Amino acid sequence: MTEAPLLSVSSATDALNRVFGYPSFRGEQGDIVEHVIAGGDALVLMPTGGGKSLCYQIPALVRPGTGVVISPLIALMQDQVDALRTLGVRANFLNSSQDLDERRLVEAEFVAGELDLLYVAPEGLGTAAVQRLLDRGKISLFAIDEAHCVSQWGHDFRPDYLALSMLHERWPDVPRIALTATATPATRDEIAGRLQLTEARHFTASFDRPNIQYRIVAKNNPARQLLDLLRSEHAGDSGIVYCLSRASVEKHAEFLSSNGVPALPYHAGLDARTRSLNQSRFLREDGLVMVATIAFGMGIDKPDVRFVAHLDLPKSLEGYYQETGRAGRDGLPSTAWLAYGLQDVMQQRRMIDSSEGDAAYRRNAARHLDAMLALCESVTCRRAQILQYFGQEAPAACGNCDSCLAPPESWDATVPAQKLLSTVFRLHKERNQRFGSQHSIDILLGKRTDKVSRFRHDELSVFGIGSDLSEVEWRNVVRQLLAGDFLAVEPNHQTLTLTARSGEVLRGERKLLMRREAPRSSRGSSRSSG
Ligand code: ADP
Ligand code: ZN
Repeated sequence: MTEAPLLSVSSATDALNRVFGYPSFRGEQGDIVEHVIAGGDALVLMPTGGGKSLCYQIPALVRPGTGVVISPLIALMQDQVDALRTLGVRANFLNSSQDLDERRLVEAEFVAGELDLLYVAPEGLGTAAVQRLLDRGKISLFAIDEAHCVSQWGHDFRPDYLALSMLHERWPDVPRIALTATATPATRDEIAGRLQLTEARHFTASFDRPNIQYRIVAKNNPARQLLDLLRSEHAGDSGIVYCLSRASVEKHAEFLSSNGVPALPYHAGLDARTRSLNQSRFLREDGLVMVATIAFGMGIDKPDVRFVAHLDLPKSLEGYYQETGRAGRDGLPSTAWLAYGLQDVMQQRRMIDSSEGDAAYRRNAARHLDAMLALCESVTCRRAQILQYFGQEAPAACGNCDSCLAPPESWDATVPAQKLLSTVFRLHKERNQRFGSQHSIDILLGKRTDKVSRFRHDELSVFGIGSDLSEVEWRNVVRQLLAGDFLAVEPNHQTLTLTARSGEVLRGERKLLMRREAPRSSRGSSRSSG
């Protein structure tokens, strides 16, 4: 019987050099590896691309027994295992995609001590069969990947993760290392609590990705804006364009292709063969743009993604950070670009309001969205805001985001906001009517549209009191009010309603500073001047 791994590594550095072929550890990797080899528990927060895998793979090679890796990314297990095998690491996996014979084979390897690493899906670990199996072999460590999935208030909760607290109860002597790329201080505490990682040492890498330039622009003609960006700054580059819907993915992939930008679609509605073909082309070929829903990207390790563009608003700052984090893993300058507009806010709020979830779920979803909206509406450094959200030290100004490169002019929108809220209030109180944003703006601008005449809204005292602003500016005011929850959209009829917080603005207790939208044409040049 062979207890020692086939690779017989003498130390962590030996494994790093000889097995993985890297000269040195990165950041805190060395400390983490040493701590786990010595049998300690660890909670590792490291951004995507930071090098989390080595933190458990190397201890699994150095410690006797098999490292058991719990990962929700079933679709990637085969690839991960193949990659390890080419390095000579004895790895395998157990998940629901295998038939009985395949499983038997893997189980036999594990029990015979012939595996360095065994990947299992979280739902598997919950079963008595897998637990009994693990009792029959020797476990060197448990690695809990994507550990934020245990957080009920996180953005990616998986109920199966809750059962992982039993690891500590059933195998108290086996060290555990939990890893995640997305953790606010609250999520981190929740992970530690739910996984009973009370004794674990916390390792927190910087979440700053200094080579990524964050830019958020007002959305007016997103396809055109995207094309301008790609032509002026990213000609011939690889990149990812995220869209909310499958239809939008198809539409924009075609739009780019027909405008000379090689682009491929990726979403869950495509058949598996097309998906995997497009994915492998994106990974292998240079200069392809992947237009995708967020179904694309988990576990994609392509170092030279030069830009990540969002045509729709992400649901949370965690999601935004994770998706933009796929840009520039090679450390070279890259762009994270998001086009954001009033419709995004309306749509996301509507999706939350009409979701199946209970009140607590909706509150949580709204909280995540609010953080994302606050980033979009902010007039200060984007990077500083992102880092603060993740509970990290941040400079006041980073010098590599749109706010720093071209400080936005801000203007005081408090009075216009009061005018708009008064309009909504009056329509409701005086006429018992509710209308959407466009009609309210028409009233403020003093436009005698058919609808205005039909409802005799030109007789309202607020008619025309907002003619000092343009229609675009008014839409921005509505957007910011919605973003700040000072105004809401009634889900069934898409009409504007006041919220519990509207009074703060109406009474003048709350000052609203808005970004003045820069003229469209000058935006793209900010990069070269920076
Ligand atoms: P994460 O899981 O944190 O997203 P990975 O573990 O996939 O990151 O690592 C990201 C990339 O960095 C991989 O290509 C990996 O091979 C590489 N990498 C990790 N650690 C090192 C290191 N010490 N030296 C060089 N490259 C490394
Ligand atoms: Zn900045």
